[in-house]
Amino acid sequence: MNLLGVAMENKLSWDGNCLLPTYRLLEGRTPIQRLVRLSEKLKVNLFVKRDDLTGLGMGGNKLRKLEFLVGEALSRNADTIITVGARQSNHARLTAAAAAKAGLRCELILNRAVNRTDGDYIDNGNTLLNDLLGVVVHDLPGSADVQLFANNRAEELRADGHIVYVCPLGGSSPVGCLGYAKCAWEIHAQEEDLGIVFDEIVVPNGSGGMHAGLVAGEVLLGGAPSRIRAHAVLSNADRSRNITLEKTNLTLRLMRPECEIVADDLNLSDDSLGSGYGIPTQAMVSAVRMLASTEGLFIDPVYGGKAFAGLLADVGSGRYQRDQNVLFIMTGGLPGLFAYRDAFRAGAGPV
Ligand SMILES: *Cc1c(COP(=O)(O)O)cnc(C)c1O
Repeated sequence: MNLLGVAMENKLSWDGNCLLPTYRLLEGRTPIQRLVRLSEKLKVNLFVKRDDLTGLGMGGNKLRKLEFLVGEALSRNADTIITVGARQSNHARLTAAAAAKAGLRCELILNRAVNRTDGDYIDNGNTLLNDLLGVVVHDLPGSADVQLFANNRAEELRADGHIVYVCPLGGSSPVGCLGYAKCAWEIHAQEEDLGIVFDEIVVPNGSGGMHAGLVAGEVLLGGAPSRIRAHAVLSNADRSRNITLEKTNLTLRLMRPECEIVADDLNLSDDSLGSGYGIPTQAMVSAVRMLASTEGLFIDPVYGGKAFAGLLADVGSGRYQRDQNVLFIMTGGLPGLFAYRDAFRAGAGPV
């Protein structure tokens, strides 16, 4: 491991020597596994990193960000955490789970931005889990500005004497992004252990924080930002790139202010977005089915399914050589499968 890696481990470690407050939610490194059967089929060395196996609230990528976000909330003596998202937000559910563990009150401001009215979408999946977690859910129409509502609600609670920490969409503040900067270090350490270098690391890009954090970490470790290939699932490529660029540079500023990237450094495609956030595509359905039936692994319909569809399209168009190593980060979101049962019905087209 190089010196930067050691410095980064110390700076971002949750086990002491910690310059930023963190709250431990992960059990340690998540496994990297080789997909033997799918690698054979696709003629590329395909690996997955199991960030779906993080051990709280049914797991998922938001827990890495929440280690830093809840740490910051507790360091400010907050008693309440508020966050925002769509009706089936995985980030909202994991924020509620982390809040339960940390003994914080939690309120979720969710809107119906995804135009689905079926019972599974409205009441199953994350909605069921939020109910079990016992948090307050503000159910707003699709047109509602959740961040504005959250800020107003925070002021209301403050007037009642609460200390409130407001967490942005996807937990993707610069502090939240540090969770994935730390993950970049973790991947470098695992590459050393495995004796492998990944040519590309493939991720979904929603609010952009995971992509931004990984790129910031990669830059700090002396790697190329373009090693992280993201498939946009929320916004088109231009908008996703602008948001991710800003988040990356703000995250870098927290660690090494002299480091900066430019828009062209980001490796990002919106080819598998389809007609918008949370709207199923046939390629997503095929990708979810392929990973399940070939390897026994589940990915979600909103993020992982579209990103994996993007990876499959990249394989199809000859992006990867047979001896190249590609790491796909599995990000969780599995409650979404139960919320999108309709999309997987035989013969169901794009909904
Ligand atoms: C939020 C989320 C992502 C995307 O992460 P961002 O940091 O928002 O880009 C990917 N997969 C799942 C399952 C998520 O919940």
